Amino acid sequence: MTNHHSVANTPDFSRRGFLIAAVAGASLLAVRGLRPAFAQATPPIATSGITLPPLPYPEDALAPVISANTMSFHYGKHHKAYVDNLNKLIAGTDLANAPLEKIITTTAGVADKQGIFNNAAQTWNHTFHWKSLKPNGGGKPGGELGQKIDATFGNYDNFKKELMTAAATQFGSGWAWLVIDNGTLKVVKTPNADLPLVHGQKPLLTIDMWEHAYYLDYQNRRADYVNAVIDKLLNWDFASENLAKG
Ligand code: MN
Repeated sequence: MTNHHSVANTPDFSRRGFLIAAVAGASLLAVRGLRPAFAQATPPIATSGITLPPLPYPEDALAPVISANTMSFHYGKHHKAYVDNLNKLIAGTDLANAPLEKIITTTAGVADKQGIFNNAAQTWNHTFHWKSLKPNGGGKPGGELGQKIDATFGNYDNFKKELMTAAATQFGSGWAWLVIDNGTLKVVKTPNADLPLVHGQKPLLTIDMWEHAYYLDYQNRRADYVNAVIDKLLNWDFASENLAKG
């Protein structure tokens, strides 16, 4: 086997060899948290700004309703990408050190801030979505929330039907939510990155209806995904905590 591309075997320090060595050296320095001298002119990657919160449970905790494979892409790639994109977009701006909610409310509906809004809102939505789910969740909630559901929707089955309908009829990407709107429990849906926060509503829980949330596990069987999430994963403890908050 010939090995003429090996840097170690290159007798003269060719330009190609130098580039390979430089890139390798830079990678090593990056791994150690150091920066090579020639990279000092490039802007630093934002270290403040918004961080990706850890998942509240292991990636395989929601299986078989949501597989570890889906979680690995959804959290590790999609959610992370929203956070990374957001930090790139706010670096060096007035919003660089702002809290996430403030970034969302100040960019909502602002035409030239749509990229920031979308990534900020999606960062927030996903963190809220993970908390809205838990292993061995779902079913009818008890306590004050259970009573409120009965009082508002007649009974739990009616509520579930309404949530299923909202989720199923969200055309394209979006979210289904249980919210408090003017003191009243309501099921709403939002398109794309849109969220209750910018509509004066208090979210209690949400279900991600973007295809990336279910396609690896359910393909086009969107209703099966929603039904399984409602029956087996909804975190009513989290929703009750949100209800109790001011
Ligand atoms: Mn998602």
